[in-house]
Amino acid sequence: MKDIDLVKSAKSASENAIVPFSGFHVGAALLASDGRLFLGCNIENYSLSMSICAEHVALVNALSCGVREFEKIAVWADCESYVTPCGRCRQLIFEFAPDTDVIMANRECEFIVRSIRELLPMAFHHNRGEKGKRKKEKGKEERAR
Ligand SMILES: [Zn+2]
Repeated sequence: MKDIDLVKSAKSASENAIVPFSGFHVGAALLASDGRLFLGCNIENYSLSMSICAEHVALVNALSCGVREFEKIAVWADCESYVTPCGRCRQLIFEFAPDTDVIMANRECEFIVRSIRELLPMAFHHNRGEKGKRKKEKGKEERAR
């Protein structure tokens, strides 16, 4: 799928945005490695701190369907400048899709592309299997005594 087509899908997804407070429509389109497309839009609620970004919705949508490998994600917003993911979304994208390109588009569907690693250098991460491995190693030490 071409980047511009992904941007247009993101723009379409923004039509479902729930933004009674900001009026700021954002849409996201996440392309999985298996070719499936997952959409998201921003969702505001009375407790503004609990509002959810479009790319967050798209990613959680894909993850909840069991998808774990991704190609790229487009984020479109109804503004003149390119919209960039917030810090929380950068961390989420990095954690679940560390090799993903992020396509950031403005209302005219003009866009720029950066890798998530460029957008979030020195991201927080740890090896999820490491904790179990340590326990196993510790168990070996105890048995050796
Ligand atoms: Zn965000």
